[in-house]
Amino acid sequence: MTAPVTDGATIGPAIEAQGLTKEFGRILALDRLDLEVPRGSIFGLLGPNGAGKTTTIRILTGLARPTAGSASVAGVKVGLDQPELRRRLGYLDQDPRFYGWMTGRELLELIGRLHGLSGPELRARVGEMLERTGLTAAAGRRIGGYSGGMRQRLGIAQALLHRPQLLFLDEPVSSLDPEGRRDLLELIAGLRGEATVVFSSHVLSDVERICDRVAILHRGRLVTEGSLEELLAAHARPIYRLAPAAGQDAQVGDLVARLRAAPWTTDVAATAGLVRVTVSDPDLAAGAVLPLVVASGVVLESFERARPTLEEVFLELVGPPAADQLDGRGFVRPREVADR
Ligand code: ATP
Repeated sequence: MTAPVTDGATIGPAIEAQGLTKEFGRILALDRLDLEVPRGSIFGLLGPNGAGKTTTIRILTGLARPTAGSASVAGVKVGLDQPELRRRLGYLDQDPRFYGWMTGRELLELIGRLHGLSGPELRARVGEMLERTGLTAAAGRRIGGYSGGMRQRLGIAQALLHRPQLLFLDEPVSSLDPEGRRDLLELIAGLRGEATVVFSSHVLSDVERICDRVAILHRGRLVTEGSLEELLAAHARPIYRLAPAAGQDAQVGDLVARLRAAPWTTDVAATAGLVRVTVSDPDLAAGAVLPLVVASGVVLESFERARPTLEEVFLELVGPPAADQLDGRGFVRPREVADR
């Protein structure tokens, strides 16, 4: 049997990047990034401000040229003037600007025409996207009157109109209130299986909520990449939260001292009536926390072994910035070409 002929659009990873580097003068925005994004995943690009997320997305979408390195997206070699690349991907900018005087439907029809749709096919696809993004009722209203969440939904609708294989969303929920965030994250999670989604954010809990795989960037470098479970298993340490009953200051002080002296704790913090214990050896800690509580004579109101979160992974791998990494305003300084 002969192997099916393909053009790379339907086999292989959705994204492959090798050695992507971007310099802006002396600033090293991206430093030799290697990345592989499996097809069909919801992939989180995570990192603090200035980590290089937008730069990565701009290069992968053909909006910026790397100083060095190469990449392919949906089987197409990434480059500045690549109509085939544009056909295969959808993109929502970090700060999308739409014509405020247009209605949502008018904007989608305009974008649809730019993608070569017309007539009943255009109207049907626009209607489908409005429905999908919950904008049908607002379709005849001017975009100028839309809320932040509605604009982001419209942004996702315009990015999906031409049925791209890959969708790049740059910080899509960062500017939204908690309700808008939740709704938009649900919408993005619902794209699973339809398109590969690359979603950047500096908010760990958002990424944790919907992504299958995560890459952490910091100061232009890839710190780690893997499935959420792999990263949590490899890097996150369990945390115990103990809530002592009120009026036991002396006993709680004794408990904190005993916990700090234990070889299996890495951090013990006592604040606002709660003792938070981070452990280095989960097996030892599992049998040893409660005996110390008993030995100190502390009565607990609650005792909880918290599920490790991406925040712990992030803190372990990236940690708080060192003093020499901060600029005068307290922001992390970008790495410079000379630092390499
Ligand atoms: P944010 O969440 O703040 O958008 P980010 O992770 O997307 O951060 P980038 O926007 O990719 O980070 O920026 C990476 C670094 O490159 C930053 O230090 C930024 O200041 C710098 N940078 C980005 N674009 C330019 C530019 N056009 N000229 C000079 N420096 C730039």
